[in-house]
Amino acid sequence: MAYVIASACIDVKDGECQVVCPVECIYEGGRMMYIHPTECISCGLCLSVCPVDAIFIDDELPPHEQHYLAVNAEFFGEGVTGWGAPGGASEKYRTDLDHAEVAAFLRREEAVS
Ligand code: SF4
Ligand code: SF4
Repeated sequence: MAYVIASACIDVKDGECQVVCPVECIYEGGRMMYIHPTECISCGLCLSVCPVDAIFIDDELPPHEQHYLAVNAEFFGEGVTGWGAPGGASEKYRTDLDHAEVAAFLRREEAVS
């Protein structure tokens, strides 16, 4: 069981969750943060500070956000960063890359124009 960041974080990415995570398992990508699926200890602290309610425990993801379980996990795989399990976020493990699903997500200003 792990927490998952979903689409509401895209282009918000204010970092509040990173500040409170006790095991530093929240990693910064280009447009959103990603939670490492095996490093997360499911303490729930991040969920309590997210201003846009982007964070869910994996089995409570809304139906339309279910794919973010894979999006968070795959961010660490060869298809995106290839980081595997770095053991904690740091300047070395910060990137402008995103999972393809997130990279293709319509920018909010484009969505309303
Ligand atoms: S649930 Fe806890 S350990 Fe997991 S990402 Fe959130 S703050 Fe970090
Ligand atoms: S607190 Fe929420 S909006 Fe802010 S970076 Fe974390 S998941 Fe994204």
